[in-house]
This record gives sequence, structure tokens and C-alpha cells, in this order.
Amino acid sequence: MQQSVSRENFDQWMVPSYAPATFVPVRAEGSTLWDQDNKNYIDFAGGIAVNALGHAHPELQQALQQQAARLWHTGNGYTNEPILRLAKQLIDATFAERVFFCNSGAEANEAALKLARKYAHDHYGPHKSGIVAFNNAFHGRTLFTVSAGGQPAYSKDFAPLPGAIEHAVFNDLDSAARLINDETCAVIVEPIQGEGGVVPAEPAFLRGLRALCDQHNALLIFDEVQTGVGRTGSLYAYMHYGVTPDVLSTAKALGGGFPIGAMLTTEKLASSMGVGTHGTTYGGNPLAGAVAGKVIELINRPDVMDGVGLRHRWFIDGLNAINQRLHLFKEIRGLGLLIGCVLNEDYSGKAKQFNLAAAEQGLMVLIAGANVVRFAPALVISEQEVKEGLVRFERACEAVVKGASV
Ligand SMILES: *Cc1c(COP(=O)(O)O)cnc(C)c1O
Repeated sequence: MQQSVSRENFDQWMVPSYAPATFVPVRAEGSTLWDQDNKNYIDFAGGIAVNALGHAHPELQQALQQQAARLWHTGNGYTNEPILRLAKQLIDATFAERVFFCNSGAEANEAALKLARKYAHDHYGPHKSGIVAFNNAFHGRTLFTVSAGGQPAYSKDFAPLPGAIEHAVFNDLDSAARLINDETCAVIVEPIQGEGGVVPAEPAFLRGLRALCDQHNALLIFDEVQTGVGRTGSLYAYMHYGVTPDVLSTAKALGGGFPIGAMLTTEKLASSMGVGTHGTTYGGNPLAGAVAGKVIELINRPDVMDGVGLRHRWFIDGLNAINQRLHLFKEIRGLGLLIGCVLNEDYSGKAKQFNLAAAEQGLMVLIAGANVVRFAPALVISEQEVKEGLVRFERACEAVVKGASV
């Protein structure tokens, strides 16, 4: 007999660092989930930009089950076939010549930042250790990555923090130029700030960072944990912008729901990470490799990338229509299927209310800070699910409008 469990048990048994929704999803298919009471929800959240192929995708199930019957884990004293194939896929599809695998986005950024320090120390000396990051950035929750992140709320209580990290203003090249110098080993930036409110970088800003990094022998790190694996309609957002980083971190959608992260880089930079310099027990696990290999195979296709653009239009048109009627958003922004609705003054600080009202109507949406309602659905979400989800979102918006006016 399995123990019967409910949402209340979360508050009894779990470290209270999350505040999950009042319902507990138990199964899912495509972009629809069902909870313990069999109520259905359309998924516009995508497990926070993770379930890029939706839920229970038959080919991902098959890839996982086939690998589960063969080999789960060996540790890094042995390599394995699925992870080697995945490395080759990523190398063929991107600027990368070398790949390091890990289990999450934070770990991918941790590897990227450690590589930047190590490379600079090896080639220029220990004085070249400065890292330039951006206000409102999000890079993960390890101590190094919360320190690089630009949200002091996530780091201040864990001091003392790793040093030599400074923050410039996102999309303000002059503010970055004032911090980048010959002692800078790396600049880390999200091509679209995701958690920070779905704020796309301006192309000239990323081009300017590239030039400043070249001028000062600093590495340009793109954190593509949220923007990667097709989210913007290109396999990686750097391709959309036409600015190539030295190091790229990827995770979230890479495993389609199976935990995996990766750091992509060049042969020259990778050579600083010699035997024993860095590692992780699970990184490059055959199960993760098999699933992610299938994810990349299914997503990196012109029809899927074009489909992201098509779905972007469905969302933008639907959201504009809702906004014309209800006057909620001062801006709808983002690329591909990473979309943010910025609440206007009347609703400022109330993003969470939209998220709660949506759940009530049978819809999962994300927020990005207190002022932005965020959508990061599956890249292959059906037209029917988008339509039905937008109908539910409109009802949720109406409920918030009513609630706000009483
Ligand atoms: C989610 C996210 C991370 C952290 O990834 P985890 O897998 O939660 O460690 C890092 N950077 C960006 C841009 C993210 O969106």
C-alpha cells in the first residue's frame, strides 16, 4: 500500500523554500495535466521552460525506457555511448568544440565561471579574476551563481559571498564598459533575462559586450539555460542575435524534463579544465544522455523552429486581444515562446494574482517578478491547447479585474 498524500503534507514534511500551488498534478499528456481530483490544466508554464516537447512525449518515453533497460549509471571513470552521441550533436549544431555535462543550470554556470577563472589564472595570472554580471540577472542558486545573479534578495543572507563579482545595468553598454577591464576574466549575461522579467537584450548591447570582451581578453559567457534548445525559435538565442559567446550554459529544456545541464565551449578554453580540475558524479549519466539526445534530435529541425514563430503569433495575437478588452498590460515582450506580459500601473505588483486566478480556471502560467506574467509553454503545444488556454487566461484576467475593482 502506498501512503496517501496531499498538498497539506508539503507544509508538514518539506523545507518551506517553495510555495507550490494548492493542487497536486498526477499525470500529463502533451500540454495538459490532471490533478488528484482529475481537474485538467492547460500548461503554459512548461515546467519553467523545461518541457519543450510537452509531457509524456512517446519518443522521449521510448528513449528513456530503452536506456533504462540497458545501463543507468557508471560514474565518470567510464564514459558511455548516449552521452558521447549527445556531445557530438551539440558540437555539430553549435559553435562548441567541447562539452562538459552536469545536472542543472546552476551547475552549468558554476562550471562556466570556474572555467573562466581557471583559464585566466593559467594564461594571465591570479589578478585576472573579475567577473562582470548584470542587475536582475538569474544564474542559479549555488553560492557562486547567486552571487553572479543580480538579485541581492537571493544572496545577501548567505554572506560572505565569493568576491570580485560586479554588476552593471542590463542593456546599458556604457555601464558595462565602466566595469570591464584587463582584470576581468568573464562577462556573464542572459540573452533574454528570464526570471528578471523576460527582458530581451538589445542586439547592439550583446555585440558591444563581445567587442569589450575581445578588447580585454575576457570570456563572454551566455547563460542560455532558459533561452536555449529552441525557446526563441533558434536552437540557441546566440544564433538569433548573431553574437557568438566563448562559453554557453544550457539546461532546462535540454532534458525535456529529465535533469541535465551542459557547458559548451571551445577546444582552446576547455584545455584549461584538465583531469581532476572539475567534476560531478551524475554529470553525463547515460539516462540523461539518451533523453537529451532525443530532445535535440526532435527540436533541432526547421519545422519545429518555424512552429515556434507560428505559436508566438498565436500567443501575441490572443494576448493583445485580451489586453485591448481589459487593459492590463503596458507591454507584451519576449522572443519565440518566452513571452512576458508587463502589468500596467493599475495591476503593478499583482502578477501572482494572475497566476492564482489562472490555476482556478485550469491554466498553469508563470510569473517573472511581481510585475510580469510569463509564458514558456512546450514548443510543440497544439493550436487547440493554445486556444483553450487563452480562453482560460481571459477568464482569469476577468476575475482579477473584478477582484481589483471591489
Ligand atoms: C533556471 C535558470 C538557471 C538555473 O537553473 P537550475 O537548473 O535551476 O539550476 C540559471 N540561469 C537561467 C537563465 C535560468 O533561467
